[in-house]
Amino acid sequence: MSNYPDYRITGLTLWKVPLTSHETYYMAEGKTCATVDSMILRVDTDHGVSGWGEVCPIPHYLPSYARGVAPAIEELAPVLLGGSPIGVEALMKACRSHLLGHPYAQSAIDIALWDLTGKACGLPVYTLLGGLQSADLPLYHSITCIAPEDMADIAKDALAAGMRQIQVKLGADNNWEADVARLRLVREAVGEGPLVYGDWNCGSSRLDATRVGRAVRDLDIMLEQPCATLEECAAVRSATGLPMKLDENAHDTTSLLKAYELGCMDAVALKLSKFGGISELRRARDLCLHFGTKMCVEDTWGTDIATAAALHVAASSPAQAVLNVCDLSGYVYPRLDPDAPTRSGGRISPPAGPGLGVTPNPAVLGEPVLSLAA
Ligand SMILES: [Mg+2]
Repeated sequence: MSNYPDYRITGLTLWKVPLTSHETYYMAEGKTCATVDSMILRVDTDHGVSGWGEVCPIPHYLPSYARGVAPAIEELAPVLLGGSPIGVEALMKACRSHLLGHPYAQSAIDIALWDLTGKACGLPVYTLLGGLQSADLPLYHSITCIAPEDMADIAKDALAAGMRQIQVKLGADNNWEADVARLRLVREAVGEGPLVYGDWNCGSSRLDATRVGRAVRDLDIMLEQPCATLEECAAVRSATGLPMKLDENAHDTTSLLKAYELGCMDAVALKLSKFGGISELRRARDLCLHFGTKMCVEDTWGTDIATAAALHVAASSPAQAVLNVCDLSGYVYPRLDPDAPTRSGGRISPPAGPGLGVTPNPAVLGEPVLSLAA
């Protein structure tokens, strides 16, 4: 037997924290985000060390919902309580075998176990993931789908604040000519150089997305997830000749392989809760390194814990493979940890300190919605 300390999980505590956007966020098909519940998990051990996880599902965006997290954790309690959290993947394998699917709930657990393992080792999560390769990460700024002129003004402000990558939400008014104006005016507002891409969040038809793409193909523009299926996105890519970023359709190894074979994955959004946490995101990251696909490393929504988890994965990846990251915590309030990283000059760095390097303020968490003990 080894002489290493044998950590065991003694408690699971879950809080619900409503996160409100600084600006209401409009997307295709009339979908909006104003206030969204984030679920915050603490995993306690018999060594006095705890790990923190977070998942903030948007039910109209992916098959996940915040109220599904507590029952999933109750279902997994027999596996987790008394289990060995250090090393993460062995226990997560047991979780995935005990409760199939529900990657969004598994994501919060997986993130907390990485935080715990890092704290037990006295190392940041990016070191456990292979070492620090990119300390200073480029951010993108996402612009809500409103009038084209107003979006161009927001793009100018973002550029002035140092942002060099602009995501333009499209399709909220189901007007393809307005989407052309959005892309043209934002491109004009930021000038040549910065990356500009238009994201429909699956909300366009093949025909409309192709018309938009053809109308702007004299410009340096990337398209993102125009339609609901990989085949449609591939058709739009080949009809427009514009590079394509995938998001909603890329959520596991199978979908990444298929997207690569279809030739429509110039870039991809790797979101923690789509894949099931840091462990699964690392596998996806390594596959995309092999494909030569640029990665946006982030999560659906959330605040300081989800942001930190994604920053650790991105920071342990080669700089040339990272398209960008997202400061989710910068779009919403309240902040869980006032000392967590914030954007500076269009860039952000992972937190310092062991584990994820962020600690929630108990006053922001309030009363837990679930508390389980071994
Ligand atoms: Mg997207």
